[in-house]
Amino acid sequence: MEEMLHGGNEYDSPMYHEAVGQFNRVAKLMGLDENVSDRLRSPQKSTVVSFPFRHDNYTQVDTIFGYRVQHLTTMGPTKGGIRFAPDVDLGEVSALAMWMTWKCAIVGVPFGGAKGGVRINPMELSRAELQRVTRRFTMEIINVIGPDTDIPAPDLGTNEQVMAWLMDTYSQHVGHAVPAVVTGKPPALGGSVARREATGRGLMFLVPQAARVVGIDPVGATVGIHGFGNVGRYAAVAGQEMKAKVVAVSDISGAVYNPDGLDIPAVGKWVDENRFLEGYPDADFIDGNALFELDVDVLVPAAIQGVLHKDNAANVKAKLIIEGANNPTTLEADDILREQGVFIVPDILANAGGVTVSYFEWVQDVQKYFWTENEVVARLREIMTRAFDEVHAIAIDEGIDMRNAALIKGIRRVADAKLVRGIFP
Ligand code: NAD
Repeated sequence: MEEMLHGGNEYDSPMYHEAVGQFNRVAKLMGLDENVSDRLRSPQKSTVVSFPFRHDNYTQVDTIFGYRVQHLTTMGPTKGGIRFAPDVDLGEVSALAMWMTWKCAIVGVPFGGAKGGVRINPMELSRAELQRVTRRFTMEIINVIGPDTDIPAPDLGTNEQVMAWLMDTYSQHVGHAVPAVVTGKPPALGGSVARREATGRGLMFLVPQAARVVGIDPVGATVGIHGFGNVGRYAAVAGQEMKAKVVAVSDISGAVYNPDGLDIPAVGKWVDENRFLEGYPDADFIDGNALFELDVDVLVPAAIQGVLHKDNAANVKAKLIIEGANNPTTLEADDILREQGVFIVPDILANAGGVTVSYFEWVQDVQKYFWTENEVVARLREIMTRAFDEVHAIAIDEGIDMRNAALIKGIRRVADAKLVRGIFP
């Protein structure tokens, strides 16, 4: 395993094994130059910090760990979200940074991959505590981020407000407002319209194309969505808008299920008022994991990693899985689902709508010229549907699945760029 991870075990973690395992499989399939593949297996820069965090009660100070990993600096600035989660570690962030590299290359945005993480449970923090953690973490990584070097964005456990505090902290430090240092900000600060909905909407744009491949009608197709945060919620909204029947959504408290279809705006209102789905009146409340085994046409894992695994993959009834979360399907589950004939639109393609509109946001900030919602959504649709077609064409030509095809597309572009840049000095 150590050999597979290349060199040492700094990044050793289950998720890093998944990312490198996928990469190795595809590098072999492509006959990738070993010098290049070796170079792409490890992140180029990793920053690990620890810092004190004072709770609101003034007596408790915890030491918090944070990470910012830049996988590839070849293509332009690096780009990737920051997650606040109780179990995040260097290996997880490194894996996510590597996936960001392929994702950016698949949709053709001029960034390398990065990712950040703070090991803390945001659900236990007050607003003031969340703000202090965000500002201190930003200061800890201030020398490695910037509008031309590395541009963070929201991810699991972070949101527009957290990005606003990050932008403010960076701007205070340099002495003038720098909106382009972060994307996923509120529009009032230079955020893009339609960024909030971009990931969920972008993945739902792919449903008609994917449905055609598996032979189902997207209108009236039943959909189960695991997660009702930024990705899951707006995927549900987009699903309802395109007349699919969203029958189940979940959050950390459990899942709500109504075989006649959920009223998504009403579910959203409930969560805004009550924070969690539990207690929502017009549906059955079931275990969150039971959602994966429901009799639905389309499954959208859009919460956390590793939720489709060797013990539940065989029970999946959906014909189509569109991965909103990063790495929701383990390598073992991937094999089982492929054998069952399930068509999977992989994370690095399906959830690329987020980074695509983040790219639009950065372009708007740099140019100080802002686009309309129609412009953003039309360009997002064009990029997502084209990326799907290009990946699908590789899958057909090579006789492989969409995950390997997407990886080939992303890795090929990056490898070509690395080869023409050459080696310094
Ligand atoms: P979020 O924090 O807004 O929402 C996460 C959702 O998952 C919430 O409904 C939460 O209750 C649920 N959840 C959290 N922990 C859980 C657990 N242990 N078990 C079950 N459910 C749990 O996060 P998000 O931004 O929607 O991100 C979700 C996933 O999508 C992550 O894998 C993230 O990396 C990926 N992603 C996000 C974006 C983006 O633009 N936000 C873009 C690409 C990929």
